[in-house]
Amino acid sequence: MSITEISIKRPTLIIVVFAVLAILGINSYTKLNYELIPKLDFPVVTVITVYPGASANEVESSLTKKLEELKITEILADKACEVLMPHSVFTVSISGCGNICTGAESKDIGIHGVGKPKITDKECIQCKKCAHACLDRIISFEEGRPVINEDICRLCGNCIQVCPTGTIGFEKKGCRIMAGGTFGRFAKYGTELFRLTDTDTIYPILEASVNLIKDNLSETYEDNFSLLMHRTGISPIFEHLSRVGKI
Ligand code: SF4
Ligand code: SF4
Repeated sequence: MSITEISIKRPTLIIVVFAVLAILGINSYTKLNYELIPKLDFPVVTVITVYPGASANEVESSLTKKLEELKITEILADKACEVLMPHSVFTVSISGCGNICTGAESKDIGIHGVGKPKITDKECIQCKKCAHACLDRIISFEEGRPVINEDICRLCGNCIQVCPTGTIGFEKKGCRIMAGGTFGRFAKYGTELFRLTDTDTIYPILEASVNLIKDNLSETYEDNFSLLMHRTGISPIFEHLSRVGKI
C-alpha cells in the first residue's frame, strides 16, 4: 500500500502522525536557547601590511605574541559586562604605506613605518623625480639643489626611493606611533605619541596601554581604550616609558 493510498484510506492515522509531529516541534521550539546578540570572539589585534625592515607575518606574530603575553584578551573579557563588541576590543594596526591605508590613526595603537629624508652631498642631476613623487608637493629647488619643507614632510620616503643619484637619502628610519584612535559613531584620530621613533619603543607602549586598561578601564558596556585615554591623557604612557628607560 502506497503512502497515497494510506492517506486516503486511513485519514485518522495521518492526522495523528502530523499532530504528534506538531506537538514535538512546538515543544522543541520552546526549549531553544537564543541570544539577541550572540557572543562572538573578535580578534584582538589587527595587523595589516608592513613596516620597513620586517615582513607582515613577522610583525603580526611578534605583536600578537606580545599581546598574548600581556593577557589583553583575558583582561578585556573580564572587563566586558556581557558581549565584547568590535569597538571595545584592542586593535593594533601597522602600516608601511605613505597613505596609511590601514587606518592606523583610527586604531587603539597605530604604527606607521616612516623614514626621514635628508639631502646628501651627492650631485643632483635635476631630473625632478623626487618632486613628482612627493604627493604633498613640498620639494622645491634652490641653486640646483632640492629643498624639503621638513615641517610638513610626512616622512613617507617616496622621494628617497625615486632619487637615482642618492642626493636624497635616509636620515633615520623608524615608526610614527599613535594611541587612542577609534572608529564608528564617535570616531577619533589617535594622539601622535611619536612622529619618528625606534621600533623598539612599540613594546613598552603596548605594555603601558595594557596596564592602563587593566587598572582604569571601567566595566561598562560603553568604555574603551579611546575614551580611557581621553580621561587620563597620554601621560601614563610616557611615565611608563620613562620608568623603563625608553625616553
Ligand atoms: S618624505 Fe614624502 S612627504 Fe617628505 S619630502 Fe619626501 S616624498 Fe615628500
Ligand atoms: S630625484 Fe634626486 S637627482 Fe633627481 S632632482 Fe630629485 S634630488 Fe635631484
